[in-house]
Amino acid sequence: MTCLECNKQLDHSEHKLAMESLGVELCQAHRKRMVKLIESHKTPVEAIQLYYGLKEAGVTAMLEWWDGTKSIDIAISRVKLNIEIDAEYHMLTHEQAINDLEEAMHSFKNGFTTIRIPHVLIKYYLKETVNNILGIMEGLRVHIKAI
Ligand SMILES: [Zn+2]
Repeated sequence: MTCLECNKQLDHSEHKLAMESLGVELCQAHRKRMVKLIESHKTPVEAIQLYYGLKEAGVTAMLEWWDGTKSIDIAISRVKLNIEIDAEYHMLTHEQAINDLEEAMHSFKNGFTTIRIPHVLIKYYLKETVNNILGIMEGLRVHIKAI
């Protein structure tokens, strides 16, 4: 049991606390940093789980990346991929849906691809979600090269 951020050895209580609050193996310092991020940005805990899932797969991503108009849950700048986590999928209203579509349109115009991932996918299918994102990145990479 080591911290996914700094490789520090975690003791039992540190590990328990991190798994209970974030579901990610982090030392006290790095757990606190993530809790602070959640409080200041309303970051879904699944965004943090996905961030570390991607990190373990060798993907460098950014949490709460400011794109000039809004904060993106996870951004992978190398392939211009933005990932938003939908926390309450069943609550989606038509106003939210059209806002999401407009945001996606603006992102596309700027050369960014936005994908929205329901939080339950990360909860139940983290590995598959990461694998699919790797596939999307590969596709985007080929596409960027083609241009
Ligand atoms: Zn750490």
